[in-house]
Amino acid sequence: MIEYIENIIYAIIVLLVIIIFIVGKRHAKPAVCATCKGKASNYYDIGSNTDLYCRPHLVERWKKDMQLSKINMMAIEPDFAKYPYGYIYDSEADMVKWNYPKGAVQKVKEYVLMVSGKNCADCNNEASVAYFLKQDFKPSFFEKMTAMPTFLCKTCFVKKVEPLILGAKEDFEEGLYAPGKESGAYHVQVY
Ligand SMILES: [Zn+2]
Ligand SMILES: [Zn+2]
Repeated sequence: MIEYIENIIYAIIVLLVIIIFIVGKRHAKPAVCATCKGKASNYYDIGSNTDLYCRPHLVERWKKDMQLSKINMMAIEPDFAKYPYGYIYDSEADMVKWNYPKGAVQKVKEYVLMVSGKNCADCNNEASVAYFLKQDFKPSFFEKMTAMPTFLCKTCFVKKVEPLILGAKEDFEEGLYAPGKESGAYHVQVY
């Protein structure tokens, strides 16, 4: 008789655990794309907060913000095979905050200054990006960079990077960053 009661109590506990699990799962915040409400696992970082998107809508959002961006910047071709965590935008002030060496901040400043008055290498419109190939940069040693950039407008820069973002195999845990409001650099995150 006691064994019988014990079995019933055991069954009730198992049932309760299953119910709690199901209810809990239903109430957990679903990871859905802010645009299409489909499955989303890519963070878009706009500084103060992050939005979630599926990959195509992540790129769409980024392209829109890039078109609106008026600042000059430097950007390094992302190597998502080696550094899949995200594509970070650091302003010069961010770099100081994150304790980048003085030489690194100075280097970014110098490259950004070079952009003024240049034309896009691809379409000849006004350039706003100093673009470097991935082999020109060993993350995150800006201070060791010696290569000369290709000058691009935002549209032509986005055209080069868009297929890399779409083709990246892993989710961007660290996120794709929106272009900042101040001059700075796009680069991959090492960790
Ligand atoms: Zn979507
Ligand atoms: Zn262009």
